[in-house]
Amino acid sequence: MTAAMLPLRPELRGVEPYGAPQLDAPVRLNVNENPYGPSPQLTAAIAAAVAEVSAELNRYPDREATALRTDLAAYLGHGLTADRVWAANGSNEVMVQLLQAFAGPGRTALSFAPTYSMYPEYARVTSTRWVTGRRTDSFQVNLDEAAELIAAEQPSVVFAASPNNPTGTALPPPVVERLLALAPGIVVVDEAYAEFRRAGTATALTLLDAHPRLVVTRTMSKAFGFAGGRLGYLAATAEVIDALRLVRLPYHLSTLTQVVARVALSHALELLSRVDELRRERDATVSWLRAMGLRAADSDANFVLFGRFADRELVWQGLLERGVLIRETGPPGWLRVSVGTPAEMSLFRQALTEVLQEIRR
Ligand SMILES: *Cc1c(COP(=O)(O)O)cnc(C)c1O
Repeated sequence: MTAAMLPLRPELRGVEPYGAPQLDAPVRLNVNENPYGPSPQLTAAIAAAVAEVSAELNRYPDREATALRTDLAAYLGHGLTADRVWAANGSNEVMVQLLQAFAGPGRTALSFAPTYSMYPEYARVTSTRWVTGRRTDSFQVNLDEAAELIAAEQPSVVFAASPNNPTGTALPPPVVERLLALAPGIVVVDEAYAEFRRAGTATALTLLDAHPRLVVTRTMSKAFGFAGGRLGYLAATAEVIDALRLVRLPYHLSTLTQVVARVALSHALELLSRVDELRRERDATVSWLRAMGLRAADSDANFVLFGRFADRELVWQGLLERGVLIRETGPPGWLRVSVGTPAEMSLFRQALTEVLQEIRR
């Protein structure tokens, strides 16, 4: 029996499973995780909550995850209520559900590159046609080009990450409003990194009441330091939520996920307490990279895109040999480093200084 004998869908033939290398480097700055784990108090609270619900694991979970969605709505604020919030196993699942409900065969989804490398994967698994426009040299969306592309392609779903991964670029609300005016369908503003945005950068949540086709997605994987818990969510109109109910698998959020996410949310202050420090460390990283004669993109997220290198793989490899794992992603010649602890960033700076000396010799 060979793989070629399996009736694999033609578009999946020869495709590699997605994922950053999960290498065991001492300093891991490659997938934008929060470097700080939960406190002993929080891990004890999680263990206690899990022990309590364990006695009911013979029962299916609350299919509607109402208590969790109520807590998420309270966390988001902006007058949101549980009927306008949806949750799933990571915002990855949320976005696949959006395409299942609003795109699929014969329909198109669109975004502006360079952007999150998972979007085309969601399109492929939902048999949605995938189209990308280009961002400008400063990684913004050019509205004239966007207008032409959207008019030509008529996408059912537009993905606009803000802050964008891997560039760190946030979209000003007037740009989001313009995209909503141009696009015939759903506009998804992916705010996975919203909590890290700089002072004065707005969230698209403020636009929700006026725009029924706007969806704002968030995640607990980044600022919340809850990547292992797998909890993503979105805010939209109640009608969008009702549409997602049609495509979600029954009981998609386990009892354990729901209860642990609620405990984490009740400790939001503690979990988010490092965000300010991470933002300062990010800004310092941008300044340092520029002082080293490199280009570094302005960032509203917990990572920095920097370059440009004639051979970025050489730099990536040189850092890895010094124990620092970053990410080879983004436009040719650029690399992305996630913001870690001050000690980790110091090791990153030291390693990169050595690698630069080597390649500039
Ligand atoms: C990390 C990330 C997510 C979050 O994915 P989860 O499935 O919630 O862990 C979503 N969008 C972007 C752009 C990201 O970088």
